[in-house]
Amino acid sequence: MKNYQARPDLMRDRVILVTGASDGIGRAAALACAAHGATVILQGRTLAKLEQVYDAIEAAGQPQPAIVTQELSTGTPADYRQLADTIESEFGRLDGVLHNAGVLGDITPLEMYDPDTWDFVLRVNLRAPFLLTQALLPLLKQSPDASVVFTTSSVGRRGRAFWGAYAVSKAGVENMSQLLADELRNTSNVRVNCINPGATRTAMRASAYPGEDPMSLKAPADIMPAYLWLLGPDSRGTSGESIDAQDRAPTVS
Ligand code: NDP
Repeated sequence: MKNYQARPDLMRDRVILVTGASDGIGRAAALACAAHGATVILQGRTLAKLEQVYDAIEAAGQPQPAIVTQELSTGTPADYRQLADTIESEFGRLDGVLHNAGVLGDITPLEMYDPDTWDFVLRVNLRAPFLLTQALLPLLKQSPDASVVFTTSSVGRRGRAFWGAYAVSKAGVENMSQLLADELRNTSNVRVNCINPGATRTAMRASAYPGEDPMSLKAPADIMPAYLWLLGPDSRGTSGESIDAQDRAPTVS
């Protein structure tokens, strides 16, 4: 997978849902999937920003995307079931989900961590991907080659001072990805993996590291080969892995 280059029609005929598609890495992933032929369902909470992504895909003459606006901190199981029903009736299939949306919360000692912020971060970063996956699995299982990708972070693999609920949520995501991969292995065509984007030039990174020069970081578009690899057919057979996008190689756990 090192130096992976996605072929131009890699994602043709695939329907892919990207959460947090309005900005940062999710926006880049939505654009990359569409540029490689996927029909992309753009999920996010800010309609105006999602519309800009939609317009960019349409202007490029790529498959017509769809927009779903949803606030992930308050989404209920019924909301996500309704989304699954809508995807099934509008597209008849779903071949991949990129759980990308995330919030940082506070960078502060655990001793002082605000409990409401804690709950909010866990709801967006961990509960929402759980509920969304649960609702979408029946549809994903109908795909001949479905890929579920969760987004992790280095602090989810090894806790680090002050990263609080964000780190805990990402550790949960890593574990959820592993157990789901285990449950689905040999019983379905659904593979499940985590991706760690690594330090990437986005609003979230800037708020975590305000003193850093953003131009010293990879741009979201630079790390897309790993995303395309995981979401597309070339990673068939890979499940239960946690991949570093900037290494573009699976880490053996
Ligand atoms: P950004 O803050 O740039 O984008 C986050 C996206 O998530 C936006 O589309 C945002 O929508 C959406 N979102 C946030 N909260 C909610 C919510 N409550 N409901 C619905 N959508 C929401 O983040 P990045 O692109 O940097 O991060 C993407 C993922 O990568 C995250 O999971 C993050 O943890 C992870 N990551 C990022 C790293 C980095 O260096 N950038 C490093 C390691 C991991 P809106 O546009 O409306 O705000």
